[in-house]
Amino acid sequence: MAQQKMLRFVSVEKQAPEKRPPNLRTEDFGEIYREYAADKAAEQAGRCSQCGVPYCQTHCPLHNNIPDWLMLTAEGRLQEAYELSQATNTFPEICGRICPQDRLCEGNCVIEKAGHGTVTIGAVEKYLTDTAWEKGWVKAIRPMTERPESVGIIGAGPGGLAAADVLRRQGVQVTVYDRYDRAGGLMTYGIPGFKLEKPVVLQRTDMLAEGGVEFVMNCKVGEDLSFDAIRGKHDAVLIATGVYKSRELEGPGSGAEGIVRAIDFLTASNRKSFGDDVPEFDSGELNALGKRVVIIGGGDTAMDCVRTAIRQGATSVHGLYRRDRENMPGSQREVQNAEEEGVEFVWLTAPRGFAGYPVTGVMVQKMCLGAPDATGRRSPEVIDGADYMEPTDLVIKALGFEPEDIPTLWGVPDLEVTRWGTIRADFRTHATNLPGVYAAGDIVRGASLVVWAIRDGREAADAILQYLAAPVQVAAE
Ligand SMILES: Cc1cc2nc3c(=O)[nH]c(=O)nc-3n(C[C@H](O)[C@H](O)[C@H](O)COP(=O)(O)OP(=O)(O)OC[C@H]3O[C@@H](n4cnc5c(N)ncnc54)[C@H](O)[C@@H]3O)c2cc1C
Ligand code: SF4
Repeated sequence: MAQQKMLRFVSVEKQAPEKRPPNLRTEDFGEIYREYAADKAAEQAGRCSQCGVPYCQTHCPLHNNIPDWLMLTAEGRLQEAYELSQATNTFPEICGRICPQDRLCEGNCVIEKAGHGTVTIGAVEKYLTDTAWEKGWVKAIRPMTERPESVGIIGAGPGGLAAADVLRRQGVQVTVYDRYDRAGGLMTYGIPGFKLEKPVVLQRTDMLAEGGVEFVMNCKVGEDLSFDAIRGKHDAVLIATGVYKSRELEGPGSGAEGIVRAIDFLTASNRKSFGDDVPEFDSGELNALGKRVVIIGGGDTAMDCVRTAIRQGATSVHGLYRRDRENMPGSQREVQNAEEEGVEFVWLTAPRGFAGYPVTGVMVQKMCLGAPDATGRRSPEVIDGADYMEPTDLVIKALGFEPEDIPTLWGVPDLEVTRWGTIRADFRTHATNLPGVYAAGDIVRGASLVVWAIRDGREAADAILQYLAAPVQVAAE
């Protein structure tokens, strides 16, 4: 078989931090997950029992027809398998790489539940679409007819791009506006390259541009261009701007030099990987090389920071989280990966304050889990008198994100938001309270996942198509 290659299962060697050679870089970790050859993909796909109760499919936010494309893969009918998988997913190779499958499709695989280990659905999905790119099966959009209507999409993340793809396939004129210089949103500048290689994202945005989607980059809506101007120019508008306001630390010394935001740290690292000029990285401000790093938080962003810091050559990396391992929001698989790479997690701890300017230490307070709160989750409580000082040169705040105040920033006070500041939109059509204005992705859900943004973007595009086709309402005399 032409694509027959040796299967490469690569895992990181378990090494105590002090045994790691200094200044490890991305290329020193052979990790980047499982690389599949045709025989392995077929073998995995063939493990699917075709159980008839596809919990994998119902737990995939896109309801991908997983059993059928696994069957086609097992039979070696790769192009058909790819066609089926991309029919419901705009970016299958991206989801295959970065979906938390253990919480979605794979975690609900019947074989997994029976204790035999899940079919590795994500890895097969990645393999299928990587193969499709290699073989030239992924083609730029060529609509059957061009339509006169135009849609403006604010935000070139997965939500906005998924909508752009659906609309453009129907011949709609699509313009995507983004404040960054490259498209992809957090797929480009948030998620680290060792999890999602950047050429994989950029080949998609290039393909959309080739298919006629217009990109207006370096355009911050609300500053460089008003929302009203975009609304006036297009027949409908989709807001897909994500959530970027970082939650802040409190306590004495929390404003010290050397305490940085996770998004700034990760963006600098990603920009550097593109070869960009990043003065804050070169000066050491956003670079962990040779530093004792403390990262605060227990979510997926914190996991990306600890693993990026290790790769940049930190001398030590400590992750502080106020609950225990079982109760952390981040993926358990990522915790294991990070520990194998030399990260030390200090469970049940939180910062009380910071010493030095620039920062030289974190005053760490120990916690225990108390009574369950209203959500049933046990609340962390401080253990008095158990504080200690953790020496550090760089503190990274990874406490989560909140929406920016869009109605104020954009001068649209009528745009309804929820009490959390997310845009209020119909959960099925994604229509906001303003006629012809839709919203999708994190700006509606709060910080979520790429796969949910894709689903929202696709659904919003379907609703916009209906809106564009609807007869214009004329007010009665
Ligand atoms: C560090 C990190 C790691 C993550 N890892 C994963 C993961 O492994 N798997 C996963 O599924 N999800 C992950 N996520 C979550 C995922 O990236 C998001 O849920 C997803 O990107 C949301 O898509 P979106 O389109 O709503 O917004 P975004 O991807 O945030 O895109 C929004 C776009 O809007 C643009 N924008 C914002 N304001 C303006 C403005 N005023 N004018 C013009 N443009 C504007 C931004 O520049 C950006 O390009 C991670 C998130 C972070 C922060
Ligand atoms: S999109 Fe995500 S959840 Fe759905 S099948 Fe692919 S990896 Fe699983």
